Amino acid sequence: MVHLLSCTMPQKLLKSAHFIELGNYHYWPVLVPRGIRLYTYEQIPSFLKDNPYITDGYRAYLPSKLCLKSLFILSNETVNIWSHLLGFFLFFGLGIYDMTIVLPEANASRDDYVIYSVCLFCFQVCMLCSVGYHLFCCHRSEKANRRWLALDYAGIAIGILGCYVPAVFYAFYCNEFWRQVYLIMVLAMILAVFFAQIHPYYLTQRWYSLRALIFCCVSAYGLIPTIHWIWQNGGMSAPIVQALVPRIFVMYFMGAVAFFLYVTKIPERYFPGQVNYIGSSHQCWHVLVVLMFYWWHQTGVYITQYRHNQPCSELIST
Ligand SMILES: [Zn+2]
Repeated sequence: MVHLLSCTMPQKLLKSAHFIELGNYHYWPVLVPRGIRLYTYEQIPSFLKDNPYITDGYRAYLPSKLCLKSLFILSNETVNIWSHLLGFFLFFGLGIYDMTIVLPEANASRDDYVIYSVCLFCFQVCMLCSVGYHLFCCHRSEKANRRWLALDYAGIAIGILGCYVPAVFYAFYCNEFWRQVYLIMVLAMILAVFFAQIHPYYLTQRWYSLRALIFCCVSAYGLIPTIHWIWQNGGMSAPIVQALVPRIFVMYFMGAVAFFLYVTKIPERYFPGQVNYIGSSHQCWHVLVVLMFYWWHQTGVYITQYRHNQPCSELIST
């Protein structure tokens, strides 16, 4: 009898707590504060069911206060939340560094300060919208979930704007006409996308592909000013073109990989249940977005320094 009890007790404990399986033999207990528990895919409400390959580790049915508290627990959203929260602090820190060291050293004009501020502000807004969604998606109200999701998508549009503004400004630094044409076009396009994304009507699964297509088109549109800029600088042989085209290529390559993983749900599609907590496609997408923004910021610093060393009159302009 005693022997039986000692055998069943650990079993019972094992069932009531939540454990992450690491390999075949090791278990890692998850520390969950009172009031929060984790659910399997089958147990969560339908509005949270987005990715059947993530089988466990869901937070659900929580009031706002517990959503906030869940920032400090290990769930399948922890990496999503923290990757963009740290991303926010990265761009906030970069903003301070640029304003106090990079721009004063480059003898920056007032316009440079405005462009850098807009760019980094957009990146920070994008990061915070994403943190908000991943933190509050487990809210018990479906309406709250949808609102945060809309804000997350709108945040991506703002992040893309943050990439376009410095790119167009510095690429057409010496050609005010085209600079204004492209800036106005980009602004109009992003505003249209922003309002389309933030509208709750488009948040159903039916619009999933259309939303993805819109973001693809908005990103691909950047190729038009890029080709114009290459032509304007005298083609691929120009030193500035040779210096910047590989950077633009790397940016698009990272974007394409991030988008591909996001849409195809790789790797969890091939390893269902094995990357619930770390290594899922959405986490890769998050990390790649931070890397892309950082890469683009560094490219911006490079081209700012170039523009301040090369007066406009020496450049070929059309
Ligand atoms: Zn996300």
